[in-house]
Amino acid sequence: MAEEILPNIFRAEIPLPQNPLKAINSYVIKEGDRFLMIDTGMNRPECLQAMEAYIKEIGVDLKKTDFFITHLHADHLGLVSELAQPSSKIYFNHPDSEVIHAPHHWEEMADVARMNGFPESDILTAISRHPGKRYHASRPVELTLLREGDRIEIAGYILVCVETPGHTRGHMCLYEPNKKLFFSGDHILESITPNISLWSEGEDPLRDYLQSLDKVSPYDVAQVLPGHRQLFTHHRRRIEELKKHHEIRNEEILSILQRGKQTAYKVASQMTWDITCERWEEFPLPQQWFAGGEALAHLQYLQGTGRAKREFQNGKALFSLRE
Ligand SMILES: [Zn+2]
Repeated sequence: MAEEILPNIFRAEIPLPQNPLKAINSYVIKEGDRFLMIDTGMNRPECLQAMEAYIKEIGVDLKKTDFFITHLHADHLGLVSELAQPSSKIYFNHPDSEVIHAPHHWEEMADVARMNGFPESDILTAISRHPGKRYHASRPVELTLLREGDRIEIAGYILVCVETPGHTRGHMCLYEPNKKLFFSGDHILESITPNISLWSEGEDPLRDYLQSLDKVSPYDVAQVLPGHRQLFTHHRRRIEELKKHHEIRNEEILSILQRGKQTAYKVASQMTWDITCERWEEFPLPQQWFAGGEALAHLQYLQGTGRAKREFQNGKALFSLRE
């Protein structure tokens, strides 16, 4: 199951059942009897089982293993609570650690959903089924927080932290300047468009994401090692495709707004989605939820760039074109 993709760098796909992402890439870098694992899996039995087979196969000693987690999502961070030992360091980023430790994180999400037109009856169900709530770490873990330019050295590789906010507010990649490797987490994926969602007030994740794409583009990269699916080489071409995708999405939303002022939920219901349902009402609730978050991220961006505006009526946020 594990493959050695570069000298002393291993990769295994940890399955994510009933999840459109299918699997997550967990990387292990090995130097003698010391190990660094990059991303883990969700905290659920199917992931743990695959992980146990993986670490047995390549001889990982968890007592001598540190972890680097690219961002807070449960498929990357969740399983670390079952793997990390008292001797392990868990490298993470500051902004996402604040989200994890925010006492009212889910309540804030519910308020934002309510304000943006989600039906009241769906809100609590959607949150209780949210993978971030079901498959998160089982205990608080001690984190070692890293910042832009910090380095982890192992097996002759020098891994430099690159802050890439957008997919989450603290998403962090690792760049190896000598071998020109880029561990991209969910910042750049080859056959999937990373989900950019907004669930809080006062942020503009799509603006951050586009800036983070521009930041990474000039890097000299020979190999991208992403959080999901296959490895790839042409990071600049992929960045251009991702930027184009969001431009097209913005245009689509502007044309939907020509039909009149409306909530983000209403906008989401009229956008085109890559899903085998004919009508919005047939979308499974989690997909409606992710669609709503994505619509909201684009609406916020359009507002920030002066192409849309927001007003409130009876506690609901309504978006419209700025003339
Ligand atoms: Zn993610």
